[in-house]
Amino acid sequence: MKQLNPTEEEAILENHSRILLKNLLEVYGFQYWWPAESPLLVIIGAILTQNSKWDIVENIITKFSNLTDTEILSLKEMELQKIIKGISYFRMKSRYLYEVFKAFKEIEIIGEIDRDSLLKVKGIGKETADSIMLYAFNEKTIPIDMYTLRFLGRYFSLSFSKKDYELIRKTLIKTMNTLELKEFHALIVEHSKQVCKKEPLCQECKIINCNYRTISLQNSTASY
Ligand code: SF4
Repeated sequence: MKQLNPTEEEAILENHSRILLKNLLEVYGFQYWWPAESPLLVIIGAILTQNSKWDIVENIITKFSNLTDTEILSLKEMELQKIIKGISYFRMKSRYLYEVFKAFKEIEIIGEIDRDSLLKVKGIGKETADSIMLYAFNEKTIPIDMYTLRFLGRYFSLSFSKKDYELIRKTLIKTMNTLELKEFHALIVEHSKQVCKKEPLCQECKIINCNYRTISLQNSTASY
């Protein structure tokens, strides 16, 4: 992994991210995450999906989709627990949902929520706030999750960590429009689940020009 200063890392991301997006789209196609859901259901999904399988989250979202926004926002914490029981950390997540709904009721107009006010809500970190702002409110932002740090770190051969969250987010915002940001995040998640796993399946990977693979090949050749 190269150790570069933030300006150099920013330049690499700025110059190559769109090429990478194009390559991911060629391999996996458009993902169209959360295309027709209400903002409230997207928010519920963003909170429930932390450390949980998406198919379980989807089943629970279906239960919420039978309720109106007003009914959802009026749910008590115990009622939320009953609805989301079955998902990991359901007590903690029902508390987070309750806190978010409380914040929305205080703001009154859901569309007026912004990233900063979301970050003040208990249980909402940057990743969740950015998922909500991007997918529920079409704001120009992107969550930088562990998949993104790992994949971009390998691809560019840079040692990204959580401390690079804002650098990566702000650079990607500069280089992509909102739709592209939505797709880029969704594609990275898909790619990370299929091949760029903890132990990457580089031989099956169709992403070209990945530095990690190039360096691995050079190392294996050098050892002969
Ligand atoms: S070649 Fe390997 S490290 Fe690079 S993106 Fe593909 S799976 Fe990940």
